[in-house]
Amino acid sequence: MITSDPDVRRGRWCIDGTRIDVLMLRTNSREWLIENYKHVPVTHEMIDEALAFEFKPIQGAELDIVDWDLTCVCGESYWESPTSELVGQSYGPGEYVRVCKACGKRWKVTIGLEAVG
Ligand SMILES: [Zn+2]
Repeated sequence: MITSDPDVRRGRWCIDGTRIDVLMLRTNSREWLIENYKHVPVTHEMIDEALAFEFKPIQGAELDIVDWDLTCVCGESYWESPTSELVGQSYGPGEYVRVCKACGKRWKVTIGLEAVG
């Protein structure tokens, strides 16, 4: 079972009773996980569950405009380059798309400038 507990890894979705998060299970090879997490241990069933897991929002999306860090509603802030399908789309000036590596949600970031005085 996959759960989110605010006291464990800041609420990241993890295999229940462990600190192993879904993102890690999705972004590493089975062989690497099983070899490097023998002490847990990580099983094929855990990896299958992580791959099939549908993220539920645990927070609002956040954009840190100082560091340009985005945090997705799933609680992760690990991004990949937009897919070729998205790269081919045209966006307005100051707009770009980021894709959450955990849940796959796509976010369009719009950067604007407005005179206020
Ligand atoms: Zn996400």
